[in-house]
Amino acid sequence: MSEPTLWTDARVFSGRRYAEALLIDQGVVAAVGSEAEVRRAAPTGTNVVSLHGRLVLPGLWDSHLHVGDLARYREGLDVSSTTDLEDLLAKLRDWAAAHPTGPVVGRGLDVERSLRGRWPTRADLDRTVDDRPVVVFHTSGHAAVANRTALETAGIWSGTVGVLGDRVGRAADGELSGVVYEEALRWLGPVASTPADPESLVRTLRFVASQGLTTIVSMNVPPEEAVLFRTLATEGRLPVRVRLFVRMLRLREFRTTDLAPAGPAGMFAVTGAKGFVDGAFGTRTALLSEPYSDAPETRGLAVEPDVTLREALADTRARGLVPALHAIGDAGVLRAASLLSPYVRDGGPPPRIEHAALTPPPVLAALDPAGPALVVQPGFVWSDFWLQERLGPDRARWAYAFRTLVDLGHLVAGSSDAPYDPVDPWRGLSAVTERRDELGRSANPDPHEGLGFEEAVCLYTGNAAAVLGEPALGSLEAGANADLVILEATSLREAFRRGARSVRETWVGGRRVFERSTPERGGAS
Ligand SMILES: [Zn+2]
Repeated sequence: MSEPTLWTDARVFSGRRYAEALLIDQGVVAAVGSEAEVRRAAPTGTNVVSLHGRLVLPGLWDSHLHVGDLARYREGLDVSSTTDLEDLLAKLRDWAAAHPTGPVVGRGLDVERSLRGRWPTRADLDRTVDDRPVVVFHTSGHAAVANRTALETAGIWSGTVGVLGDRVGRAADGELSGVVYEEALRWLGPVASTPADPESLVRTLRFVASQGLTTIVSMNVPPEEAVLFRTLATEGRLPVRVRLFVRMLRLREFRTTDLAPAGPAGMFAVTGAKGFVDGAFGTRTALLSEPYSDAPETRGLAVEPDVTLREALADTRARGLVPALHAIGDAGVLRAASLLSPYVRDGGPPPRIEHAALTPPPVLAALDPAGPALVVQPGFVWSDFWLQERLGPDRARWAYAFRTLVDLGHLVAGSSDAPYDPVDPWRGLSAVTERRDELGRSANPDPHEGLGFEEAVCLYTGNAAAVLGEPALGSLEAGANADLVILEATSLREAFRRGARSVRETWVGGRRVFERSTPERGGAS
């Protein structure tokens, strides 16, 4: 732990108010307020640093991301910049040539933007690489396209197709198109997965710290990855706080000792378990009450049967964990609210709905403000710019309706869902306040659904800590853990505009875990 540090001439946003000075000692905030007040509280030997008006915020949280996938994504074949089909096939061919063994796995394919909504076919992939599995994941993570070798190895080519039903796409001639959705991805998983690597997890978490994030909540974690996090925690190698939501349908594989905290106090915990109610808008698998406007034959998919989820939720709570359900479409959110209702007033920490993306008035009427916390992804306001077509403008008006949700008293926390959207929290913060991206696009441009700068920060700090029931985190009031970001900016407006480049230092528990080597010049210096 470092010596006591007093920052003066700062612009500290504590989560509730602005102050000019901040003292941290023994890993916690010892005092915050006017310079005179805070100086009085400083012990002799305190390191005093003037920040020349720079902004200090509580450390940011990402309340829902997938760290293992993010690590694989960052260090694997990223196809998000694909310009057309031939470009995609060239990327796969080049990767295969450079990596002569193992499966060829691409991630981040934006079928709408890169391929005008037309999926590549199995045949396209077969003519590129046919001697080993090729799998390309949709940017949402809720669908993928595979070559014949991958489909055969996964068992999808034969026998299981009947079981998987509409989770497997078909071409006009009735043959498998190679596109698979939702649960069918579980069959492809073992074929496409590369083993998790602890060093790449640490590199990814260091990158996360450089974005100003101090706590991350990793979702859907399988047992083999939870073990790696646990080992890193025990070895004191986690640069940021890590909370895990394990894969609900694999909860039985976890022993009680696998679920206990590990390592230095407060750095690592298994907090909950997450299951799926529906899919995603991008793949038209989010569950809607009325058909998709651009595909009237479908309303999406109910991913897991109620009976399976009920049993898994009960097991989750019995193990002292927080139950969380993924739900995106309006019918999905209603279903999640009903499945989670037994856990709202049972004395345990609040259950959560992950995404809660589409909340028209009937859903708002059914959602209990004292009920599940809502963990949203503001970046999707920009990324899902095609949503108006999928849902029609009248329905899309109720997508990512942050102002409405907050005003109704719901506890709302922000997150990225990385790697299915950029992990950069500044993109999400900006999308909370500014409904349109720089090209003017938006899933729901209604300016009434935007929030103010400070409210946006609260979604990524205090609210996030409240959702997890961790009152010592998410603020810079006295007594809070000294998790903070020092920015190369003097106002939130400026910080949001500059984005992650404005992060100058990141501190976790009174320890500096990131310092920009050549701070960019901003208005502050
Ligand atoms: Zn997710």
